[in-house]
Amino acid sequence: MKLLAGWLTKPPVTGAAVALLVAVISLASGALLQRKAENALHQEVRQNLVRLARIAALHVDGDRHLLWKPEDAFTPEYQKAIAPFYRLMEASKDIYDIYTCVLRDGKVYFVLGTPDQDPQTGKPDYSYLKEPYGEATPEMLRALREGLALAEKQFYTDQWGTVISGYAPIRDSSGKLVGIVGVDLHVNEYRKRLASIRRHAIITHTLILAVSALIGMVVYLLSRRSARAHGQLRLHARAMEMAANAIVITDRNGTIQWVNPAFTAITGYEREEATGKNPRILKSGRHDQKYYEQLWQTILSGHVWKGEVINRRKDGSLYTEEMTIAPVRDEQGNITHFIAIKQDVTERKQFEQQLEQALEQAQAASRAKSEFLANMSHEIRTPMNGILGMAQLLMDTPLSEEQRDYVTTLKESAESLLSLLGDILDISRIEAGKMELRYAPFNPRQLVHQVARLFAARAREKGLLLQVEVDEEVPASLSGDELRLRQILTNFVGNAVKFTEQGSITIRVRLVEAGNTQKAHSLRHQFAIPEHFSTVWVQLEVTDTGIGIPADKQTAIFESFTQVDGSATRRYGGSGLGLAINRSLAELMGGTIGVQSEEGKGSNFWVVLPLFAPNMEQSLGTVGAVLSRRSAGADDGSASGAACAKGRVLLVEDNEVNRKVAVRLLQRLGYEVDVAEDGGEAVEKTAQRRYDAVLMDVHMPRMDGLEATRRIRERERVTGGHQVIIAMTASAMKEDVERCLMSGMDDYLSKPVRLEVLQGMLERWQVSDLPGETAEQPPMDHDFLKEITGGDEEFTRELLQEFLNTIPPLLDEVEQSLNAGDNEALARAAHTIKGSARAVGARAFAEIAFALEQAAKQQRRDDASAAAQSLFAEWQRVQRYIQQQFLQQAA
Ligand code: ADP
Repeated sequence: MKLLAGWLTKPPVTGAAVALLVAVISLASGALLQRKAENALHQEVRQNLVRLARIAALHVDGDRHLLWKPEDAFTPEYQKAIAPFYRLMEASKDIYDIYTCVLRDGKVYFVLGTPDQDPQTGKPDYSYLKEPYGEATPEMLRALREGLALAEKQFYTDQWGTVISGYAPIRDSSGKLVGIVGVDLHVNEYRKRLASIRRHAIITHTLILAVSALIGMVVYLLSRRSARAHGQLRLHARAMEMAANAIVITDRNGTIQWVNPAFTAITGYEREEATGKNPRILKSGRHDQKYYEQLWQTILSGHVWKGEVINRRKDGSLYTEEMTIAPVRDEQGNITHFIAIKQDVTERKQFEQQLEQALEQAQAASRAKSEFLANMSHEIRTPMNGILGMAQLLMDTPLSEEQRDYVTTLKESAESLLSLLGDILDISRIEAGKMELRYAPFNPRQLVHQVARLFAARAREKGLLLQVEVDEEVPASLSGDELRLRQILTNFVGNAVKFTEQGSITIRVRLVEAGNTQKAHSLRHQFAIPEHFSTVWVQLEVTDTGIGIPADKQTAIFESFTQVDGSATRRYGGSGLGLAINRSLAELMGGTIGVQSEEGKGSNFWVVLPLFAPNMEQSLGTVGAVLSRRSAGADDGSASGAACAKGRVLLVEDNEVNRKVAVRLLQRLGYEVDVAEDGGEAVEKTAQRRYDAVLMDVHMPRMDGLEATRRIRERERVTGGHQVIIAMTASAMKEDVERCLMSGMDDYLSKPVRLEVLQGMLERWQVSDLPGETAEQPPMDHDFLKEITGGDEEFTRELLQEFLNTIPPLLDEVEQSLNAGDNEALARAAHTIKGSARAVGARAFAEIAFALEQAAKQQRRDDASAAAQSLFAEWQRVQRYIQQQFLQQAA
């Protein structure tokens, strides 16, 4: 039975069955209808026949009927009597024959009738009147006996065709039955109509079959689709049953309709238990009412809710699940159900927590290690300085050859230990995330020359050629952490010198193409790089012709404490930290680092990193860099009287005794000293000129050292340049030191300040240029000048003489308006100077005039007066240069 039911539900069987059923029912009713139509037609024909027979009977004389004899057939009376028959036959072509007959002695005889034709002669033949009619049908006999009007049921076929006969009684005037009239009717018309009915029936049946087949087909397709949908549904249901995630279907009110086995596995509630309940049964009480309200708001407004929920299992234990609840809508768009999919994430959560804890512990340990290292190396550094200082002092005393040798070794060991400590301090600072970058404008050419100078002597000793190549398009001023760039270069060049026995070392700076990176962007933001500064990608590289590095070691050497091999270490020394520091620094500055090297041929170490340069027009930054450079240059000129001075230091100290001691110390070290008594004064003094270093007390009345430093740095952001500021702090607390560095100071000294520490510090920060290098860019642009004068020397001299005459009165104007505080006049004078200077190619002079003009227009008094000082200094240089290069030659 089940098998049959299953078989019947197969789509092809269902289709065929339906088609067959429709066909049978339709065909049966069609046949019935056809039968009815045929019967109706038959009836109609027979009634018609009887009617014709009755009409014919009206034309027969009943009183005379029994008196006719066969011999009368050719008489006129007889012919007259049958004349109406002819007329009727004429009127209705379907009538085949009309005749009358009587019953005599139980036999039927024809009385009146149309003649037959003699087959031989073709003449009318009435012989049939004489013979009894042998083929009388029961109907005919019934009509004759009972005087009924009726029609035959069957057709009758003879050699003349197929007919059907009808009869009507003939009565005499007394009403007595005297015979019947018979009418034979051709069935042609009837047959035609019958055939038409049958034809229609066939067409109808065919159509019925076609429609049934079609219906069967449609039923088949529909049932197949429904079978498929059913199959899909089964699959989906199965998938939901098998899903590892808990699935809950609720109605609109949140009443549970269905849950899958995973739900039971997670919560402990069986399907039967959960169905009909509200998911509230899982509530843990860990979330406030608002949480659920917000959930309901989300899903009732038709949105999907996702979140984490802490629930309670049937056994009371808590678990965390990640849940997604989505509303289900009907065709009208009304929400009818909600489907919740839940994943038990309790274990994952615990794991994550453990992981986080472990990570935190690891980080804390690493931080502690780094901090310990940083503190230790810092603490060791102080006595190391003592050792070094003492060794230095010892060397200045009379010593035997042997003693001198010992002391030299002692000093060298202490120096290398100090440098190692420095490296460890750096790497641990970087690892602890404590390495602070400080971005300020600097001169890249100056930087590489200084680094080169540092190694010049050692390179010379080894017979190596040390070269510097700075591409022309590298801007004169760049914003970046000069100190760290110097460190990178120093490491590279130090290695190059160390690992090269012959040949050359080249330090190269050039611009490279690179897209803007996220890191470059965040550096801009972090260091408040002004809008009009663009990002430039600078490549610093150091190429040597030394021992090279095997390919398989080229990646590892950037790791901490990694060297190419032990024997090399013994031969060359070193800690293996330099390149690791370089890599970390490069990455910290948003750059990349790398090496190309071939063993025995040499190496090429490079970093590429984003720095920031003012756009050439309107570039206050560039002018700032020029300003600071030129003011340093001005010192060289003006300080010619104190040629032996090592440099000029600004001492900022409010305590008189401390001040006295520090001034004495500094003078003993050979420095000129200016004094400021508080931060405000320091800010003013540093605006007047740049010092080789500012020694800044931290705690002072009115304005403390931190605030003063911040103001100076703020100003430098506009004017460019970088004033070295060293804190002098009585507290050795790490936080204080940090605060100093955060405010923008470069380094710090602990009070009381010791002579040798002070000396080391100042030497380390000594940035005053060697003679010659300040003039790395001549004050006049020769090419430009040549272009405008067409190389005509006479004209050039005239032009420059004119320039020399024009400027001094304008400079007087600058001085006067500056003293009078007349910014307008000051801007005007600066503007005119700028125009004249540009006209003859005195570029730096024009730039400073432009900066002065801007400062005057924006009423920045301090900046204006600094720019004016630089302008005067640069004018000295320009004048001297023109005299030497153009005018004296002629003389
Ligand atoms: P180290 O203090 O040992 O020089 P570094 O991190 O600076 O530490 O360098 C790691 C190692 O990389 C060096 O010990 C050396 O083996 C190799 N190395 C670095 N620079 C060069 C170079 N210019 N030529 C050859 N080898 C080099």
